[in-house]
Amino acid sequence: MKPLLLDVSATDWNLPPKETYREKQIRDWVLKRFVSSYDEMTDLPAPLRSDLASRFRLRAAEPVKVQGSEDTTRKFLWKLGDGSMVESVLIPATLGTSGNRSTRLTLCVSSQVGCAYGCRFCASGIDGWRRNLTAGEIVGQVIEAARIAGRRPDNLVFMGMGEPLANLPNLLQALDLLISPSGIGMGARHITISTSGLAPQIEELAHHPLQFRLALSLHAASDEIRNKIMPVNKRYPLARLLEACDAFVRAKHQQIFFEYILLAGINDTPEQARLLAQHARRLHAKVNLIPYNKVEGLPYERPPETAIRIFCQTLLKGGVRATVRREKGHDIDAACGQLRLKELHQEPRSSD
Ligand code: SF4
Repeated sequence: MKPLLLDVSATDWNLPPKETYREKQIRDWVLKRFVSSYDEMTDLPAPLRSDLASRFRLRAAEPVKVQGSEDTTRKFLWKLGDGSMVESVLIPATLGTSGNRSTRLTLCVSSQVGCAYGCRFCASGIDGWRRNLTAGEIVGQVIEAARIAGRRPDNLVFMGMGEPLANLPNLLQALDLLISPSGIGMGARHITISTSGLAPQIEELAHHPLQFRLALSLHAASDEIRNKIMPVNKRYPLARLLEACDAFVRAKHQQIFFEYILLAGINDTPEQARLLAQHARRLHAKVNLIPYNKVEGLPYERPPETAIRIFCQTLLKGGVRATVRREKGHDIDAACGQLRLKELHQEPRSSD
């Protein structure tokens, strides 16, 4: 299989030596105008276009399925060059008052095919880990979604399939393509990286010069409960993890987010709320509570509305900024990994 154009260095594009401006032209076509074929790069000579086309793939992903409509949450199932499938979700939010309304688009992207971390409530980990996405495949989801939406997303969250910090070199390369002015040109503060809790990588990110945001998928406030639903906690228990978050906050002078999926009867108790408030106060973290989206075949349930409200009030009374985030697209398999799982299980399984 030919490599992706974005995955090789521009020196491998073999551009004519006296035409250094060609690199910028190509980057602009791919990363700013989101073209889907070399033929659309009309200011490049035809021989250069066909030379590039003969050596490099341009598109990282093609949509296999799109669920939802233009003004609602849209979920994309992408097929990659090797036939693997990953998902992204595009979420619109309307800001402002009547007469002065604007829509912000947030794209949730995947970083791996499958996931090795096996959080018990998550569809992405059910079939295990297949491989890391390349930087070009990560950025390719943004390009494809931008082409479909007619514009670049305003915000990016790495909360799709996979553990982004387990694919750190490719993630950092993708961030460069996303943030650099010669790339897509997004603001670093509009990009949120989420992790299930890889403490050493959080410490590594603390020293990265870019000011992207960090979200910790905490989902339980004690080792006892976290061990039951997130195996990663046995490797990096809460004390170690929160220490790494301390280092991140100290180095970046930045607020971090705790993501907390509420699972009925598991992590929605008053004791968990009290401990969560304690951790959030320590790190000045904002808490996003996410009532669970039912995943077919898994035994977890969303708590009743009163339990969700009481849990949130305990945090607020404890001096913590907390909101309940309603997952949009509840009816379109919007919990990460669900669409891919359905597609995989209706096709004959591959031999691996
Ligand atoms: S929640 Fe994230 S880290 Fe955990 S299994 Fe799912 S994709 Fe992997």
